[in-house]
Amino acid sequence: MSKFFDVLKNDLKLLQSGIEICGKLFHGYLYAFHADALALHQILGFKKSFSPFVIKNCHKCNEDSRSYHKKVYHEQCSLRTFKEHIEREEKIELLRTSNFEKYQALSSEWGINHKGMLSDIKHFNPIRDSLFDPMHVLFEGIVVKEIQLMLTSLMREKLIQREKLNNCLQSFKYHRSIKTSEYPKAFSSNDFNVKSTSKSLFVLALHLPIFLHLQGVQNNANVKCFKLILAITKIAWSQRVSVSTLNVCKKLIRNHQILFLELYTNKNFIPKMHMLLHVVDQLKTHGPGRHISCIRQEAKHNVIKQKKLYNYKNLSYSVGEMFCMELTYNFFHFNGQPKFDVSEHYKIVGESKICTNIFKEDHNLNNSLFTLSDVVINNKSYRAGDFILKQEEKITILFIEEIVLKSGKISFVCKKVSNNYNKRIMTYECNILCDIICITYSELEMPDTLLSYYIEKKLHVMIPSSRYPEII
Ligand SMILES: [Zn+2]
Repeated sequence: MSKFFDVLKNDLKLLQSGIEICGKLFHGYLYAFHADALALHQILGFKKSFSPFVIKNCHKCNEDSRSYHKKVYHEQCSLRTFKEHIEREEKIELLRTSNFEKYQALSSEWGINHKGMLSDIKHFNPIRDSLFDPMHVLFEGIVVKEIQLMLTSLMREKLIQREKLNNCLQSFKYHRSIKTSEYPKAFSSNDFNVKSTSKSLFVLALHLPIFLHLQGVQNNANVKCFKLILAITKIAWSQRVSVSTLNVCKKLIRNHQILFLELYTNKNFIPKMHMLLHVVDQLKTHGPGRHISCIRQEAKHNVIKQKKLYNYKNLSYSVGEMFCMELTYNFFHFNGQPKFDVSEHYKIVGESKICTNIFKEDHNLNNSLFTLSDVVINNKSYRAGDFILKQEEKITILFIEEIVLKSGKISFVCKKVSNNYNKRIMTYECNILCDIICITYSELEMPDTLLSYYIEKKLHVMIPSSRYPEII
């Protein structure tokens, strides 16, 4: 593996010394390294196990893994420093060949097995710039565990029945923006073990407060604990995040951890709950969680998964061949461009009958307004009847009345929407008003259409990711 990194390091050296593009000199450096925690630790030389027998297994701090549950903030941990880490790595490498007994003692005390493969990259700080992946920490760790613990205790208290809950999540009419492959799967056993992709788990978590409400479950401590982790997940998974929201997120993590230990004891505390303390800090240093996640890169494993059925002897050759075929296919069919389509698509349905005076600057537009359907902009689909978010800080939701083409430009003719946050199911209860405004795509703060449902005859709109700290 170190040979693979030699190639990367050589390329980085070239970038660091500068490359000339159009007469200008540009310099590049390694901004961040993110991976699944085990892979990350293997490459950085830290202990490769999160079992209770490994005492030091966090690459951000020097805390004892047996007392992780006692820390509720990143700042409370005795944090590792770059200088200390480099000195430790040198000592470990020296002792490995000269004094194995001492090597073993210090390796266990520091949680370091060997010198990291990225340690000598200029400007790269393996402590600061190696990131925990929010997807692995939350969707493949804490959220799965939390759902399992909550539903098991609700069933024990006879507040839910597995069959009824399964019926509810299977018969629910999910919003059109959710693909059928992302629908939550029924629970097949009474331990409520969730076996699904990260996306499908997120869909389940977002809708679970609705399903529990429909089952008549009150907001007890178990449900409250789950809603805390859901609110944290929405902030950690948001495309954008403000410093004030992160400060709220820290308090939510503290509250969640205290309540979790009260309800489920530290027997159920998993190392990923400790990693979550550091995840919030890395959002401050390296930006929103969605941008520092491995989810898109891991999607490439699908290429290999498709191949595995036909591979019987030379795995690396078959995988290499598969990637070559995939790349060649992309070059021929997409002109070497990514599949991501940035253009606009739409169908003109007919002339629009809306009143033209909402386009303030135009007076004589009767003949140039057309109603559009099946509008796709930057791979996002919009149609009349959808809800969009104009402003996120002070929630401003709009209802798309009609999409029109005006002088070759797409505009959304929208009705304003009044909203009240519903704590119980974590949605916004909405009423569509008569005031009409007209906006363009570039004026939207969040390009996704919002999830909207009629629940008990009331209109509810859900914001799947939010920098706004919703109240639990
Ligand atoms: Zn730590």
